Amino acid sequence: MVVIGSGLGGLECAFILAGRGMDVTVLERSARPGGCLQGFTRGGIRFDTGFHCVGGLGKGGALRKVMEYFGLIDLPWRRLDPEGAEEVVIGRDCFVLPSGFEAYGDALCGFFPSESDAVHRFVGLLEEVSLNILETSDGDRMALFRRGALQYLEETFRDPLLRKVVSGTSLKMELTPQLPLYPFAEINGSYVQGVWQLEGGGDAITARLLDGIAGRGGVLRTGAEVVGIIESGGCAAGVELSDGEVVPADLVISDAPPAVTVSLLGKDSSVRSVYRRRVSSLAGTYGMFTANIVVDGGFPVPERNIYVHCPGADLWRTDLGSTGSVMVHPYPGGGRLDILSPMYAPEERGEAYEGIKRKKLSECLDLAEQALPGLKEAAKLIYTSTPLTWQESLGLPGGAAYGLRKDFSTIDTCLLSPRTPLRGLFLTGSGLALHGVLGTSMTALRTCSAILGESVI
Ligand SMILES: Cc1cc2nc3c(=O)[nH]c(=O)nc-3n(C[C@H](O)[C@H](O)[C@H](O)COP(=O)(O)OP(=O)(O)OC[C@H]3O[C@@H](n4cnc5c(N)ncnc54)[C@H](O)[C@@H]3O)c2cc1C
Repeated sequence: MVVIGSGLGGLECAFILAGRGMDVTVLERSARPGGCLQGFTRGGIRFDTGFHCVGGLGKGGALRKVMEYFGLIDLPWRRLDPEGAEEVVIGRDCFVLPSGFEAYGDALCGFFPSESDAVHRFVGLLEEVSLNILETSDGDRMALFRRGALQYLEETFRDPLLRKVVSGTSLKMELTPQLPLYPFAEINGSYVQGVWQLEGGGDAITARLLDGIAGRGGVLRTGAEVVGIIESGGCAAGVELSDGEVVPADLVISDAPPAVTVSLLGKDSSVRSVYRRRVSSLAGTYGMFTANIVVDGGFPVPERNIYVHCPGADLWRTDLGSTGSVMVHPYPGGGRLDILSPMYAPEERGEAYEGIKRKKLSECLDLAEQALPGLKEAAKLIYTSTPLTWQESLGLPGGAAYGLRKDFSTIDTCLLSPRTPLRGLFLTGSGLALHGVLGTSMTALRTCSAILGESVI
């Protein structure tokens, strides 16, 4: 069998199926595996690109069970201080949010005492959803996919500032008025459990999964771009690479974005155009501008994720032409931090592109400076990237950071099944239903369950 793409989802599927005795080859177009898990090194210093941290690794957390299954739990995870792992800054107001459902709820009640009952209901929902991800029935999950997250917050909380605070850490997803309640509760709930970084970043996950795949007889080929999916008798029969090589396989799993996957089907494919049109018309989420920053040794980098928002920013209707919000991730051990901010994908490189990057960087630093005074002065080295970087390096349409955009009112159209109309072709990855390390892993488990006909964990 072949797996198209060595992102987290592709590697996890390869790991599971190689373990079931299948002959697995992972084909990756880039020179390096890992997709959004990749970091890069400049002057001997390592930086993250996509993945920065996870939630839900504590006792009872859904991600913990998943990481145990994939042999990733004993990687050097490092928990951010539970007393204040995340902070939301809105103008002059700072809200330090501790980890743990009780402590998080108590902190919110302390900030907004008149909304205590609503806070308890909200925290109860986050707990219920995020602790039971593996056990929740499809029916219960879909009920929350059919509700809007913003609508829920408006019905639950009277104070608009409280709505902003509980939404304020959500740059880990794209907030729109159409966002379903399930991913909002799943992601926020898992980070309320605690926030963990990984020494060595996402590359450590990639390396460990690749070891596991190799140990089970699987193979990774980099620089192997798939340009076509070959069919025979209405079934997948293999893939064609950009140099014309054909790799035969009766089972093909694609971890490439779904729109890319359907574009790989030939003109004479047995897959009806209605499916192809549906998949290729689904919109992606916004992309991210990233500034990787080395600061002067003496500059105190707080060991927490900080989310800084302009007081007037509408968190649920992001203006991609300006910078209303940034998230700041520290690195283990201090001395470095990354600033990420939503952004549209510039069309092309060149002088104008450099100007766009400089402007975005300056806006990001201005906003981050509100929470970290002196940051601009202390920044010694800065590397920047935009959604165009993602588009070019990973083939992510528009550089979408968080998979496909979800709309609770048309949810049956925007959630994709791992099964496709072509027998032997399956999908996986963050583009199907849920993104992030947790969401992508859940989907990999679903993809393999669909193939094996049994649940994997
Ligand atoms: C800026 C940013 C920040 C993020 N921060 C976090 C975070 O802190 N925590 C978290 O949990 N998640 C985070 N995420 C999300 C998380 O990293 C992703 O959801 C997850 O890693 C996606 O995995 P995937 O399996 O969908 O594959 P991807 O990472 O999208 O990889 C797909 C792979 O397929 C390859 N490919 C595509 N087309 C072809 C082809 N034709 N032939 C061969 N190979 C092909 C690509 O080169 C790529 O390597 C972040 C994402 C971004 C972009």
